Amino acid sequence: MGDYREMWAGLGLDLQAHDALLNALGKGYQDTFLSQKNRPQAMGYFDFVMSEVHGLRIKELLDARADGRKVIGTFCVFVPEELILAADGVSIGLCAGAEFGFGEAEKLLPRNTCSLIKSFFGFKMSRVCPFLEVSDMVVGETTCDGKKKAYETFAQIQSNLYVMEIPQMKNAPDRELLKSEYLRFKAEIEKLTGVTVDAKRLRKGIRTVNEKRRALHRLAALRSTDPAPISGLDALLINQVAFYDDPVRFTASVNKVCDELETRVKKGEGVAPRGTPRILVSGCPMAVPNWKLPAIIESSGGVIVGEESCVGERGNRNLVDESGSTQKALMDAIVDRYFKIDCAIFTPNPDRTEHIESMAKQYKADGVIHYSLQFCQPYTMESFAVEQKLKEHGIPCYRIETDYSQEDIGQIKTRVATFLEMLGQ
Ligand code: SF4
Ligand code: SF4
Repeated sequence: MGDYREMWAGLGLDLQAHDALLNALGKGYQDTFLSQKNRPQAMGYFDFVMSEVHGLRIKELLDARADGRKVIGTFCVFVPEELILAADGVSIGLCAGAEFGFGEAEKLLPRNTCSLIKSFFGFKMSRVCPFLEVSDMVVGETTCDGKKKAYETFAQIQSNLYVMEIPQMKNAPDRELLKSEYLRFKAEIEKLTGVTVDAKRLRKGIRTVNEKRRALHRLAALRSTDPAPISGLDALLINQVAFYDDPVRFTASVNKVCDELETRVKKGEGVAPRGTPRILVSGCPMAVPNWKLPAIIESSGGVIVGEESCVGERGNRNLVDESGSTQKALMDAIVDRYFKIDCAIFTPNPDRTEHIESMAKQYKADGVIHYSLQFCQPYTMESFAVEQKLKEHGIPCYRIETDYSQEDIGQIKTRVATFLEMLGQ
């Protein structure tokens, strides 16, 4: 990585704390990703992106701003990237997956807050996140109670925070609420960027994001073969990078990985021998650099073949219908697509359990590991219904609740090994 210290200082980062974060990230990446065997060569692009995630990518965002574009940071897959692109904005994900600055975060948050929320507070308060500092607008949303209330406090330290209301049920008035919130967001983005989102711009934004999702669908489909042609860790990394990278470049890079995987599939080659227990991971999103559970599963003799997560299939399932000829029709198509997201904040939420069951079958998973972050009520509560549903269909399910700390790694390893052994019998 080049020397970006001046750039980071200009963004107000605490250089010493930031160095500590980057060192930990670099070591974690080396140990978790670069030590894997038989990786697709095209993963080299994603290694490069990760090595430059706080460097070249931030420089690109600053260059985009210098060209008059606006950077919009988001915490949830309910914020439509299509709209941001249509207004010539740049969309980036802000969720954080590291235990960093938790001491600081706990000055403003209760200790029993999920790691994901504590992490973005910790990053902000320790001044180590260039993505937050480069954002012209940061979008929060009323999803779980933890986030909803946390944003009230976050607004005091992130002055450009905008909060989008998300419905909690899936009835007709809820769709109307989502639509009115997307229209309010569109107006706000137009005001920020000075760009009017007409049908032509909207269609272009929709096509770009659809192409990105198509590439991710292609990757997901290739993982249904046995032996699995790519590790779950590498597939997760691709899904994580989807939140940061330029969408067109990202799409081309995912398709390159898929070309290589297609050749592997034709030759019957994979990253783990046939008969390796195949796992579907389901639950809370895993933001960079949260690789803890996947690393444990894959170093314990399993292979992950799908992620039922917002950093995975829940986040990229379904395309937006591109066929509408008016701005109104295209906005409706966006609402229709996003209204199908089956986040655990919805009640009731039968679609999610159906999807987990069908994903387990589609990806030929031998078992499902349900992952919830400690103190995450929506996903932890729902894990019981998931387990019950899978049991009815004869699919083994194991529930794991953890956080971003390293303390329980030994205990989780033992539990995962027992589950994998049971699947192998
Ligand atoms: S899990 Fe729910 S709240 Fe979190 S990113 Fe996904 S949709 Fe948003
Ligand atoms: S992990 Fe759970 S509690 Fe934490 S932000 Fe997501 S939905 Fe909310």
